[in-house]
Amino acid sequence: MIESATTLYPAPRARIQAMKEYHPPLGCRDALRLDFNENTLACSPKVHEVLGRISAGDLTRYPQRAPVEAIVAAHLGLAAEQVALTNGVDEAIHVLFETFLESGDELLLPVPTYTMYEVYSSATDARVVPVLAADDLQFPFERLLAAITPHTKIIALANPNSPSGSVVTRAQLLEIARRAPRAVLLVDEAYFHFYGETVIDMVGVVPNLIVTRTFSKAYGLAGLRLGLLAGPVELMRWIKRVLSPYSVNSLALACLLPALEDTVYLDWYVAEVLAARAEFETALDAAGVRRWPSRANFILIEIGALHKEFTRLMSAAGVLVRDRSSDPGCDGRVRITIGTREQMRHAVVALDKVLAALKANALQ
Ligand code: PMP
Repeated sequence: MIESATTLYPAPRARIQAMKEYHPPLGCRDALRLDFNENTLACSPKVHEVLGRISAGDLTRYPQRAPVEAIVAAHLGLAAEQVALTNGVDEAIHVLFETFLESGDELLLPVPTYTMYEVYSSATDARVVPVLAADDLQFPFERLLAAITPHTKIIALANPNSPSGSVVTRAQLLEIARRAPRAVLLVDEAYFHFYGETVIDMVGVVPNLIVTRTFSKAYGLAGLRLGLLAGPVELMRWIKRVLSPYSVNSLALACLLPALEDTVYLDWYVAEVLAARAEFETALDAAGVRRWPSRANFILIEIGALHKEFTRLMSAAGVLVRDRSSDPGCDGRVRITIGTREQMRHAVVALDKVLAALKANALQ
């Protein structure tokens, strides 16, 4: 029991009591949203049209996932049994960890990386084994291989990684899978569309490979919470036991097919972001701001000791950015999502103004 003032409350598991709270700053975001790596504009108009046609009666039914799963699987060149739709990739990660991680197991993580891996693993009895990237934030391939043990149960690799934007090559991924046959290799391809390289074609070929994708980024459907997990049938049978049959809502299911079909919109958005990223890189270089090379829709930059002030002033100038200083090896670093060229030109104006203000203050 836990005593709170005078009342006694039932105690959660010890693991849960030890968990850290995690509250991403999702409030007050009516500004230019360069903070969560979302699509900064809109989803496909075809998706929006489908949403508009959903009736009150449609909402009374429980969602049916399987038929949509079969279509998505075909789209990816996989069998229906190899694919599960999830309530965002976050649910995929949660369910995967619940399915595989138990006491004595190790979750191998190159860090810095996506925060939720650690959050979900901390609710299990497994131990996180972090492998810190060097200052260049490139994927620490050799050191990750060296950290594999007989207890390694999951190796989680975001590819491209966040917040660095760095990537793991296909050859490296296949080598890792080969060197850790008793572990699940999770390749989280949330930012796949901006990178263009994938190992999803190896699902079912490499027995320990699981790949995830999201509709939250390039597709612009973060609010609908839609992701997918693909893996060999032999692993999917266990994962599907843990996964709720109800967790993907009917609006998300209705939107998935038009989202997949409107490749013109998707290609346009990705090309726009890549053009904007190139322009923004040039602007950062001109401003003398250190940046890490990125293959995703965001860039990590070095601000230094004034990172909090920088983030606050950018927000005051109407541009939300994400301070990543508390990530391992990221002190003084801030991540900026890439939107359209027009949005990024606004961001550059704000950035130049804020940097000048910080410099003037430092000189005083
Ligand atoms: N993986 C990575 C690497 C991410 O950066 C994010 C989003 N921040 C996710 C997964 C979560 O995606 P979703 O919105 O589908 O839960």
